[in-house]
Amino acid sequence: MDEFGLIEHYFKRPPRQTEVVLGVGDDAALLAVQGAARQLAVTTDTLIEGVHFASGAAGCDVGYKALAVNVSDLAAMGARPLAFLLNLSLPKADAAWLADFRDGLFALADAVGLDLIGGDTVRGPLAITITALGTVAPGEALTRRGARAGDRIYVSGLLGEAALGFLARSGRVSLPPSMQAPLFARLDRPLPRIAEGQALLGIASAAIDISDGLLADLGHILQASGVGATLDLRRLPVSDAYVAALATVGYDPALVFGDDYELCFTVPPERVPALAGIATRFACGFHDIGGIVAGAGCVVRDGEGLYVPARAGYNHFHD
Ligand code: ADP
Ligand code: MG
Repeated sequence: MDEFGLIEHYFKRPPRQTEVVLGVGDDAALLAVQGAARQLAVTTDTLIEGVHFASGAAGCDVGYKALAVNVSDLAAMGARPLAFLLNLSLPKADAAWLADFRDGLFALADAVGLDLIGGDTVRGPLAITITALGTVAPGEALTRRGARAGDRIYVSGLLGEAALGFLARSGRVSLPPSMQAPLFARLDRPLPRIAEGQALLGIASAAIDISDGLLADLGHILQASGVGATLDLRRLPVSDAYVAALATVGYDPALVFGDDYELCFTVPPERVPALAGIATRFACGFHDIGGIVAGAGCVVRDGEGLYVPARAGYNHFHD
């Protein structure tokens, strides 16, 4: 049973409270607080040493990334950041590491406007769980459910940068140092698309952040919306470094590795002009990579024909 089958089988239940507008299964849950003008978006993620970051990774990068992966889920809902909780499991209280971790954590918290409001600190293997809260106007959140046949599919920024950084750092790809630096930056310090997500409110019909790889995460939109997709590989936004490595690594790092924390979203054709209207505000760019079709699953084409990736995407418990 894979990660998502496990959640579905053991933990997904219909909400009992009418205030739970959206429960298990999206980037964040949505809670309507009686009498409040805005809904709460709530999301949580855990980072474990040796699984999500290498042993010996710089504390500031770990602190930054632990928060970034949560902020990215708020971005995918179009939520405005509010506050977060920090649960720390530490093998020892290492003052230098903690100060470094705190600096990375608060650098991002300050950049997006999140207050730390609580948490828990215990002794154990190094692991960080953050729960982030945001707010959104009722009925406006971007969910995974709204894609319809005929919608265009977009991604923000560049794909495969984190993957290439990982491959370069582990010596599986060699690139000139000038090309490596931005890849490492993207792997260690992803830029959650929080302003972009809020700008997409009223424009995108569905959205998700790319944490597990484009195909896996777009797959969640397709499943939740009950639709299929066709993607054109020639439209994938990749960097010059990626093009330089393409002959060695192929398209899989951009399609299935994940960790880019870009947004993947769908836009109905009549709202494409509105997207063009906001796109000029964002340096990352929004790239049309394909279309939503009736049916199920995702067909990926390149110049010659169908493209079959080596694996579907990152999935804990997938053997
Ligand atoms: P993301 O990659 O956006 O962080 P995940 O893939 O981690 O989302 O989780 C998918 C969905 O399943 C989310 O809505 C998440 O809150 C929910 N989920 C994950 N694990 C559990 C669990 N143990 N119990 C209940 N819900 C869970
Ligand atoms: Mg997500």
